[in-house]
This record gives sequence, C-alpha cells and structure tokens, in this order.
Amino acid sequence: MSNLSGKTALVTGASRGIGRASALALARQGAQVLVHYGRAAGEAESVVAEIRKAGGRAEALSADLAKPDAPHKLAKDVRAIVGERLDILVANAGISKAAKIEDTTIEDFDNLFAVNVRAPFFLVQQLLPILGQGGSVIFVSSVVAHAVVGPLYAYAATKGAVDTLVKYFAASLGERGIRVNAVAPGVVDTDMSSFTKTEAGRNTAMSLQALKRIAGPDDIADVIAFLASDEARWITGDIVRVDGGSKL
Ligand code: NAD
Repeated sequence: MSNLSGKTALVTGASRGIGRASALALARQGAQVLVHYGRAAGEAESVVAEIRKAGGRAEALSADLAKPDAPHKLAKDVRAIVGERLDILVANAGISKAAKIEDTTIEDFDNLFAVNVRAPFFLVQQLLPILGQGGSVIFVSSVVAHAVVGPLYAYAATKGAVDTLVKYFAASLGERGIRVNAVAPGVVDTDMSSFTKTEAGRNTAMSLQALKRIAGPDDIADVIAFLASDEARWITGDIVRVDGGSKL
C-alpha cells in the first residue's frame, strides 16, 4: 500500500472501534494522525501513545460533535496543529439507536442527525480551506442505508444522507483534486453493534453475510486506508461496501 508519509490525517471518533483502527492503519502508512475524541480522553491518549511508540506522529484533540459549533472548533484546533494542509479526513464518529417507528423520539432523531450528518457536513465545510489537491475525504456509511436490517429507521436515514453527501461533495470538490468516498460496513464487532454481543445476534449477523465470520474494526480500517492512498486516486463519489457480502 502507498506510503502516506508527509500526509496529515484527521480521524473523528478515533478513541475506539473503527476510528481507532483507522487512526492506527493510517499511522502505519506514515501519516501524522490527529486522533479526535468526544469524551474518552484516556482512550484517545492511548491511541496516540501506541502510534508514537511505533515511531509515528499523533496528537489527540476533543470536540463534542453533538454541539452545533463543534465542527468549527475542531477545524480551528486542527489548523493550529497541522497549519494550512490536511490531506485526509475520516469522518467516522457516529451514534446509533434501534427503535421502532412508534418508539422513535424527536430527541433521538435530532441527536442522530446532529452527530451523523450535521457534524460531518460542517466539518468538511470548515476544513475546505486546508483540503487541497490529492486530498481524500472518507465518510462511514452503513449497509443499513441500502438494505433493511432491523428497526434502525432514523439511524439508517442518517446513513442515506451521508451517501447523498458523498455524491454532492465529490462532484463539487473534484475540480480541486479532492476525492470523496464512503465505506459502508455491515455488522462490525465494536461497542456500537448489539449484533455482536450475543451468540444469537452473531448467528443472525452471519446469516446476512456471504462470508461467515464477524468483522472486526481492522477489516474496515484497511479499506479506509486504501481509499486515503494514491492507489485509490481514480475512485471518487463511491460508496464501497465492506460487509462480507451482506444482504446480497
Ligand atoms: P463506536 O461506538 O465504537 O465508535 C463511535 C465513535 O464515535 C466513538 O469514538 C465515539 O466517541 C464517537 N462519537 C460518538 N458521538 C460523539 C460525539 N457526540 N462527539 C464526538 N465523538 C462522538 O462504534 P463504531 O462501530 O466504531 O462506529 C464508527 C462508525 O461506523 C459510525 O459512524 C457507525 O455508524 C459506523 N458503522 C458501524 C457499524 C457497526 O456494526 N459497528 C456498522 C456500520 C457502520
């Protein structure tokens, strides 16, 4: 895989799960990684320590992405560290909530859209001045945006919105040499996924997949690192399914 040395990357929600694995994967390729977190300062610092121990460069920085002005604050903090050039943005931070139509509250709906859609939208907007030629923006969508999997109505709608943003951002940022893509994972073994917590859940997940094991964060992070790399230079506006063949 390409050498990302000399490149700068911001990964949101990088203290655990897919974000953590992505931060480590980008650092292994040589990128300087900004490890964003919401509240888990200790976990983010341990990701930074792991990267530095392996000889890489990393810094932790926080912002509660449920707050309207958080992307603006985060972008300012990013510029204070990397200066005028960010090469890779992995907009990974997200929340989920399973609820039937009848049980979905306005508060849950608004929170889901605030963190999963509003925050990445305005983060891209605020980082535009320092994203340039060769830049790569990677969103994290989900299989639930294109297939019905359980009572995830509002959450699935946020990922549908993400898929739409990928197309619009890719179309408008292409002339500046910036690529915009998303990965769409299936079930992944992280804190977020209720499927992976019980044997019955794992069996259900595997029954949806062609490949019969449960994905780990690295399965997704490796594709994120690929999309960030020069090998993916001709891929933009795409939503790459990384789901072991889910719901074929
Ligand atoms: P996770 O819960 O382990 O990680 C989510 C990350 O987002 C955490 O680091 C968390 O701190 C951060 N975050 C959440 N709310 C935040 C806020 N208000 N401010 C700042 N940070 C916040 O789960 P994960 O599975 O690693 O999720 C990463 C992404 O992958 C999400 O966008 C999720 O929707 C997507 N995804 C996950 C699965 C799965 O099965 N786990 C499947 C498809 C897509």
